[in-house]
Amino acid sequence: MVYPVSEIFYSLQGEGYWTGRAAIFLRLWGCNLKCPWCDTHVPPRFYCSADEVVKAISHQIPHDHSDILVVITGGEPTIHKYAELVTALHTSLPMCMIAMETNGTNLARPVLQDLRQSNILNWITVSPKLGVQSDEIIESYFVDSKWCGDELKVVLDPNGDIGLLRRYGPMLRHRFRHLYIQPLSEDFQPAVKFVKENPLWRLSVQMHKVISIA
Ligand code: SF4
Repeated sequence: MVYPVSEIFYSLQGEGYWTGRAAIFLRLWGCNLKCPWCDTHVPPRFYCSADEVVKAISHQIPHDHSDILVVITGGEPTIHKYAELVTALHTSLPMCMIAMETNGTNLARPVLQDLRQSNILNWITVSPKLGVQSDEIIESYFVDSKWCGDELKVVLDPNGDIGLLRRYGPMLRHRFRHLYIQPLSEDFQPAVKFVKENPLWRLSVQMHKVISIA
């Protein structure tokens, strides 16, 4: 099995709960959604096996920091054979904290949830695309008891129905440890207002853009 890879790089996590923490990012290529603002249309830089991915990541680990955070992101990682890849990373780099960021379309799959339950995968960030997917689809996720993870990070698109977040926040809080909204634009005021009115949610700002890092 080979994986299409957009890039592997070492930087700081710029969004959500782990903002500011050093992390190695594995960006897999390809997605099952087409968000208008997305930059993943360019072809993959290279293809490699799970073993080669492990080797490339291990080369990025800073000396004496084998417990570094490794973030598998995309594109959308769950459209690939992610179980093999996550297991290979966990087996070869057992001290690393392995996180996955997904758009949530395949979140309820037993394979993904089993990996998380057994701590082979240590963290799941879910970022549904309110305003890109229909409100009905987003609502079908929110009411599904198998749709769960560590962190829910909703990108705040002006076309999306923010009322869904208000309505389902208390229910989602039972299935996610952290709830974030993240403005798409630099107009943060609607998000600030929303969090003040709905304190179950927190504000996530894309720090990497503010400090101009990858
Ligand atoms: S879900 Fe993420 S990777 Fe997929 S098209 Fe949207 S922004 Fe891009």
